[in-house]
Amino acid sequence: MSRRDLVLEEMGLGPRWRLRARPDVDFVSAPEALESTSNAVAPMVAAAMPSARREIILQMDWPTLKGAVEQCSACPLHAKRNKTVFGVGDERASWLFVGEGPGADEDAKGEPFVGQAGRLLDNMLAAIGMKRGEDVYIANVVKCRPPNNRNPESGEMSCCEPYLTRQIELIRPKLIVAMGKIAASHLLQTDAAVASLRGRVHEYRGTPLIVTYHPAYLLRTLADKAKAWTDLCFAQDHMAAIVAAGNQAHEER
Ligand code: URA
Repeated sequence: MSRRDLVLEEMGLGPRWRLRARPDVDFVSAPEALESTSNAVAPMVAAAMPSARREIILQMDWPTLKGAVEQCSACPLHAKRNKTVFGVGDERASWLFVGEGPGADEDAKGEPFVGQAGRLLDNMLAAIGMKRGEDVYIANVVKCRPPNNRNPESGEMSCCEPYLTRQIELIRPKLIVAMGKIAASHLLQTDAAVASLRGRVHEYRGTPLIVTYHPAYLLRTLADKAKAWTDLCFAQDHMAAIVAAGNQAHEER
């Protein structure tokens, strides 16, 4: 029996929900890859054991993934949310910015980084000639607001992990920018401080990753804004190098 069949059997879904093989091509251009609708999948995901749930989420296309997040009740954060905050931007973006989790403004609007920290992020992007949605995708580690803007707990991050993982797989960004300790720790599986992770290129499953301060932290710690600017310039230089290497490889083919 294949791994997929085992997963489906564990969930008791065998004949009702069949996944085709995971193609190398992106799911966006192959929406028929999942035979069920996003609405039908959500209850099945909710009923699955954690390992099976993860496997299923990691096979989803964009619409199914969005539907699954919208209907997610895997951790207690769902109970108090107004809106889930899936992510926003160009689904084939070169740049992926990852924050921590929605605050009150994001919870009300259903979009990441729309409050004060979001305005700073937009300004930071503008400073390097970039704009939300244009070759940029913005997402968070958790998709529901932690109450009173507390940090997301590890169980909550674990429940949300497959969603962000699948977003990254679908986007296939050239560069990830982790904003703040929560995003950096989650993606790099480290407990190191942001200060010690800055200024180097890390790797998230083969994708280069750069760490900088969280915009909300910068609003409180103005002195570190200059460091964030340095980080963004570093990221921009690294992106230029990635693009140049890609162009050269293309020419040599
Ligand atoms: N802080 C985050 O980490 N994410 C948001 O979406 C908003 C504020």
